[in-house]
Amino acid sequence: MGSVAPHVLLVSFPGQGHINPLLRLGKRLAAKGLLVTFSTTESIGKDMRKANNITDDQATPVGQGFIRFEFFQDGWEEDDPRRKDLEEFLRHLEPAGKDALHQIIKKHAGKDHPVSCLINNSFIPWVCDVATELGIPNAVLWVQSCAAFSAYYHYHHNLVPFPSETEPKLDVQLPSMPLLRYDEVPDFLHPSSPYHFFGRLILGQFKNLSKPFCILMDTFQELEHEIIDYMAKLCMIKPVGPLFINPKAPNTSIRGDVLKADDCIEWLNSKPQASVAYISFGTVAHVKQEQVDEIAYGLLNSGISFLWVMKPPHKDTDFKLHVLPDGILEKVGDRGKVIQWSPQEEVLAHPSVACFVTHCGWNSSMEALSLGVPVLTFPQWGDQVTNSKFLVDVFGVGVRLSRGQAENRLILRDEVEKCLLEATLSPKAVELKQHALKWKTAAGEAVAEGGSSDQNIQSFVDEIRKRCVAVTSTSITQ
Ligand code: UDP
Repeated sequence: MGSVAPHVLLVSFPGQGHINPLLRLGKRLAAKGLLVTFSTTESIGKDMRKANNITDDQATPVGQGFIRFEFFQDGWEEDDPRRKDLEEFLRHLEPAGKDALHQIIKKHAGKDHPVSCLINNSFIPWVCDVATELGIPNAVLWVQSCAAFSAYYHYHHNLVPFPSETEPKLDVQLPSMPLLRYDEVPDFLHPSSPYHFFGRLILGQFKNLSKPFCILMDTFQELEHEIIDYMAKLCMIKPVGPLFINPKAPNTSIRGDVLKADDCIEWLNSKPQASVAYISFGTVAHVKQEQVDEIAYGLLNSGISFLWVMKPPHKDTDFKLHVLPDGILEKVGDRGKVIQWSPQEEVLAHPSVACFVTHCGWNSSMEALSLGVPVLTFPQWGDQVTNSKFLVDVFGVGVRLSRGQAENRLILRDEVEKCLLEATLSPKAVELKQHALKWKTAAGEAVAEGGSSDQNIQSFVDEIRKRCVAVTSTSITQ
């Protein structure tokens, strides 16, 4: 690489749902010829290293460029009890992270590849401050839908009425969007949400929105075109998704999983085409054990095979590992398999998978849509409730199983069974699959050479190259 090869430093919030899209972006940028350093805290970096054979400081070729990892200490011991309080941890992370980033950037400044662009995802908006202080161009990767972005944007700027203490059941009309019922708005913005902290955290990015020169999004033009067109008039957004598909470097094995995936592909190979329900509720939201029991009986009674991810709860939470009700596994026999972590994109791409029972995290939603898999939506909180609305009512690929945690309702086994059969064996199932395949094609076209997302990535890379030359010549003249 030449002495002014653009070096992009990606800084991720330490959570799987944030690491995945940012690392995928890193691989897409590397594939276009950039040197990419991926960074997050050492506390999660050590798990990533273990699960994925990552070696620090080693640049791995991806397409025409390279990617390397550099984790930083957050200054707290591994077992510090304060880690259990995310709000406190994040308050601590800001100054510690800023210091660490300054050091990383300083370290590279005197070498061949000074950092020429900083990209963060949206739970750590203070990275934008570091970029501004150091005069380094900055971009943000928004890891939710453009619809969710619009909701937070309009809330932050007080542009439309949202549910309030006095009007908690107010439906919300955002521009270029179907009416969102009060419980379909990202629920961290709802007055009754017990998780206002998350809302404040996300809104922190909107306070800092003037700093980045670009907001990249893991969505694609054809999927949310009216909302994207509207929001693009208000801020510099660029849809570049689905990021998990990387046509220029399809075989790269670099992954950011925090857990090693269990073997399940051979089991899927043994199942007939479109016969398995895949179940995962993501990495953060916790479903009650009694709800797990009902879903398990619903699956048993439906006769449908299932592959279920029961991830061990994060060590900094008090949640218990889910279990299947006694005797269920004996009854289902080889028809059911429980694992702790799956290679999800591979699972969703497998022909034996008929549907995905999902909590509707945006990564999972994009993966299902782009791999042509119908969904049963089981949202819990945050943007999941909005994603569920879009998956069912707008994208036409889903059956709604729940309206979210705020509903505070146990979904009983009969309802689970009915929805499973509807999504897999009814005339509606054929329609859902047709829609899902339409999105799969559109997603593939968006990221293929010359597609809408590919063009946006290319223009972003061109912009970095331009700004990189500017940064380098400024530093030379100083
Ligand atoms: N994932 C995975 N294996 C699993 C469960 C999840 O690889 O067993 C990945 C999934 O593909 C997605 C991410 O973890 O990329 C979860 O992100 P999402 O936004 O769906 O949910 P979150 O965990 O952030 O709520």
